[in-house]
Amino acid sequence: MSFKTKFFKISNPITKNFSFGRFSNLLPFGNQILVYHLVSDADLKHAKHLFPYRSVKQFERDLGFLSMHFDFISWDTFVKNKTEKLTTKKPTILLTFDDGYSEFYDIIYPILKRKGIYAINFINPKFIDNKELMWRNKASLIISKILENKELQSKVSQFPNFGNDLKINLDSILKINYKNRDRLNIIADHLEIEFDIYLKNKPVYLTTEQLLKLKNDGFGISSHGWDHPLYNQLSVENQLANTQQSLDYMTENHFLNDSFAFPFTDHLVENQFFDSIFRQNTDLKFTFGAAGLKLDSNPKNLQRIPVEIGNYSAEEILKNEILYYQFLKKFNKNRIIRS
Ligand SMILES: [Zn+2]
Repeated sequence: MSFKTKFFKISNPITKNFSFGRFSNLLPFGNQILVYHLVSDADLKHAKHLFPYRSVKQFERDLGFLSMHFDFISWDTFVKNKTEKLTTKKPTILLTFDDGYSEFYDIIYPILKRKGIYAINFINPKFIDNKELMWRNKASLIISKILENKELQSKVSQFPNFGNDLKINLDSILKINYKNRDRLNIIADHLEIEFDIYLKNKPVYLTTEQLLKLKNDGFGISSHGWDHPLYNQLSVENQLANTQQSLDYMTENHFLNDSFAFPFTDHLVENQFFDSIFRQNTDLKFTFGAAGLKLDSNPKNLQRIPVEIGNYSAEEILKNEILYYQFLKKFNKNRIIRS
């Protein structure tokens, strides 16, 4: 459990008793950037072991709370406020969604449209049109299938480096990383799980047609890397290549090529990457991590607040993030320092 998770566990029972108004004047930044993945009432085998996604009701509750205390802004307004250093009367929120899940089109888009709220989608072009299942979704799907089927549970225990402890086996599957992601295909073959059939039966990601409709309706489509790598596992050359490939896709398709959100985390990504990517792409204005309320030694790299943590509501996340930021600040640890 990370230090922040422990902090939230202790702080939440306390912050719960106070209204958000007691925290809002401790907000360190005028604008907050929130990141979700998807919203659904369904049991999504390819996602449920990766992050706790909101039900429609929970999402609507989040939006209700957020609209009371913040103004939702568009990407254009965000860039304008940031570059012209404008301050707003009410704190603002830029809503972002990662990975390009089809639920954005089917579920989230109608809700946001009805409420007049803007959002930006950070997508991996490789998986658009459901050409392939993203490697993390493969891990979640394999785990779901194993949990549903006793036969697969014994079958997986015979797999090289696996044993009789189901929990340990599932943990090892979830820990497979970008570098050795091919192992997921080998395990799936061994268990006769067919990713292509799963994708054919139910589209997981947005299609090109949906992206165009969203764009034409004013929503943002932007870059999240080509195929969702973990950046600190790549050489700087490969970090740049993966990012550039996704930025080029945005340019070619007339989506947003002025922003980029790191898949997973920007942890340990060095200044050399930022210097090169901003030099190569003069349109690029900001890049985004997901470390919560935090400053970054690179002023063009902004940290977003991940909302899908435990069972916390957006209100609880924000209260605890604010408290955590103020705590870190006391120890001068509220800024990510890059080498
Ligand atoms: Zn992602």
